Amino acid sequence: MKIYISVDIEGVAGITHWDEAEKNHPDWHEFREIMTRETIAAIDGARAAGATEIYVKDAHDSARNLITTMLPKECNIIRGWSGHPYSMIQELDQSFDALIMIGWHSGVGSEENSLAHTMNTRTHSVLLNGKPASEFTLFSNAAATFGVPTVLVSGDKGLMKEVKAANANISYVSVKAGRGASTISMSPAAAQEAIMNGVEKSLLGDLKQCLITPPTKCILDVTYVTPDLAYEKSFYPGVKHVGNRTNRIETDNFFDVMRAMRFIK
Ligand SMILES: [Zn+2]
Repeated sequence: MKIYISVDIEGVAGITHWDEAEKNHPDWHEFREIMTRETIAAIDGARAAGATEIYVKDAHDSARNLITTMLPKECNIIRGWSGHPYSMIQELDQSFDALIMIGWHSGVGSEENSLAHTMNTRTHSVLLNGKPASEFTLFSNAAATFGVPTVLVSGDKGLMKEVKAANANISYVSVKAGRGASTISMSPAAAQEAIMNGVEKSLLGDLKQCLITPPTKCILDVTYVTPDLAYEKSFYPGVKHVGNRTNRIETDNFFDVMRAMRFIK
């Protein structure tokens, strides 16, 4: 069994403030360790379920957050950004049995995580076929284009609703909830235990039941915080400027959505 684990930081236990997500800020060191420990928990769960090949993608900001010396010898680690539109799941292809997302978070527009965003903090909203699109929306669909199911997500409680709406069979470990600028969180140790047990259980289930179907007609609307971005990004091939600070791509190929997000976000 070949497993891909993509790890972000804004949905790990306890994280509350941007200072804690920013590389080299004194507050980041604690949360990069929590991110690393949640990754190890997912690896341990995957190995307990019989995973023989494990790829871990450091998928936050610089993509150089995980403390690699803490990771077990059984995993391969993908660090940095290649520039491929499948960024957070780079190198994933049809040879993988399952995708696991650790430390993922609510998308832009959500009030359920003080760090909610989709890809960056320059967008006011990102809609796919009229519905708010989180990074989960984008990358679970991207994985599904290879026939790879997302079987477990851990992160904030707000994202859980979206994951369950996409496919109720996908397991979810809700490690924290947001309220305003605050969080109500499991302890990191409890979150790690829940992730380990959740990953093992999800991988012992029927993985294909977790598969979602990517949309065949895609309308991606990106509304920016500032007008300069809307103007600049409107020159990307195929983009229509459809409203105040809003650009649109229409396509019947999901890869085009991901490629556009790479350049117009
Ligand atoms: Zn992140």
